[in-house]
Amino acid sequence: MRIYNTLTKTVEEFVPNNPPQVKMYTCGPTVYHYAHIGNLRSYIMEDVLEKYLRYAGYDVTRVMNITDVGHLSSDGDTGEDKMLKGAEREHKTVMEIAEFYTKAFFDDCAKLRIKRPDIVQPATGCIDEFIQMIGTLLEKDYAYKAGENIYFDTSKVRDYYCLTGHSADNLMVGVRDDVDEDTNKRNRADFVLWFTKSKFENQQLKWDSPWGVGYPGWHIECSCIACKYLGEYLDIHCGGVDNIFPHHTNEIAQSEAAFGHKWCNYWFHVQHLNERGGKMSKSKGNILTVSVLEDEGYDPMVYRLFCLQSHYRKPLEFSYDVMDNMKTVYESLMKRVKALKPEGEPDMAKVQEYRQKFTDAVGEDLNTSLGITILYELLKDSVSDATKAESIRDFDKVLSLGLTEALDEAAAGSGDEAGVDADLAAYVEAKIQERLQAKAAKDYAKADAIRNELAAQGIRLKDSKEGTTWEKA
Ligand SMILES: [Zn+2]
Repeated sequence: MRIYNTLTKTVEEFVPNNPPQVKMYTCGPTVYHYAHIGNLRSYIMEDVLEKYLRYAGYDVTRVMNITDVGHLSSDGDTGEDKMLKGAEREHKTVMEIAEFYTKAFFDDCAKLRIKRPDIVQPATGCIDEFIQMIGTLLEKDYAYKAGENIYFDTSKVRDYYCLTGHSADNLMVGVRDDVDEDTNKRNRADFVLWFTKSKFENQQLKWDSPWGVGYPGWHIECSCIACKYLGEYLDIHCGGVDNIFPHHTNEIAQSEAAFGHKWCNYWFHVQHLNERGGKMSKSKGNILTVSVLEDEGYDPMVYRLFCLQSHYRKPLEFSYDVMDNMKTVYESLMKRVKALKPEGEPDMAKVQEYRQKFTDAVGEDLNTSLGITILYELLKDSVSDATKAESIRDFDKVLSLGLTEALDEAAAGSGDEAGVDADLAAYVEAKIQERLQAKAAKDYAKADAIRNELAAQGIRLKDSKEGTTWEKA
């Protein structure tokens, strides 16, 4: 496949170090709040990338961290501790917050048909690894102790700005002017590897280290977790464009300083989702989540289709008008797929021909919208329904739009109401009533819990002005 590489700023042929193996790393969420759908755009596109690589015959191992310590509200080392803020907001411990929002994140991923990475590692489970790498960086003189913290010295690496293309003069993108400059830093871009002198008196999570009791900075976790499971050579590292600086820039600096060689060959970044011209941000208090979309009557698949219809390197404009259009598109697509009557054997030569077209389309810098165009071309084609169904199942390995499930459902004839078990119907209706009462009492946590409980049993609720309906997912 060909893919845009942020490191070289060009679309390149993807060549892993040891084909067919692909070592893929993804920056995971900071689990202090629900994920907003803008963040989930990145995870959807990374999911498509992973599935495409598998489809193309690669043997992918994908690792994701969970940030449950050390991430301050600016991506530099300033502001408040995000986890602590979440715990204070909800009168819970940091670990309770981490557990709750980690589960919420993977519940959202499941609704969006995002595959769980092979390895998911919370940062708090790797403190020994962080201490070890920081020790190496100190030994190699890439790190220093000042004001009781351990900092990475960015002036020691030759090409610190290799990912951003910035020079030292116009750096500090993402660092606000109104925050206090840390006078312990030798260079403005230096970052904290280990906080010993905590600025938060109520810091809940602390560990012993050779430099005193403290906790790790945010950036060190990804280098260490990637190394622990994938070794010192990565093929591809993923994230949102807001991770490029400082997070990924710092990951490269510290990894290559510690290992003494190039670390990762390809850097994949997904653009922002914008709402009415501005970037959606949790700090503004408007958290647009998967649950909000469901409450507004949109199947999470409608959002997935919306993301796949545009290119991952272009900013995407969110509005409910666009979602309404996308909902119509998705529903009519599902209808067409369910209406297929696959009888007899598929024409495998045609299936292969379509597989090639689809592979070429999506393989050109993950052009998912062209992949979907080919899906429509297939639906319009005069080939048999059996051939169409076979190709749709094939495409859906990458797209994951619920098309395979729709075909299975149509084949089982369970699309009609008569097939639904009466006991199940009574049970779900009771749950819907319980949820309505919870909502009326403004107990949204309970309402969400009921919906998630049903979702776990394969029951999807749909809210609209007329009330709540349900279907088997
Ligand atoms: Zn990371």
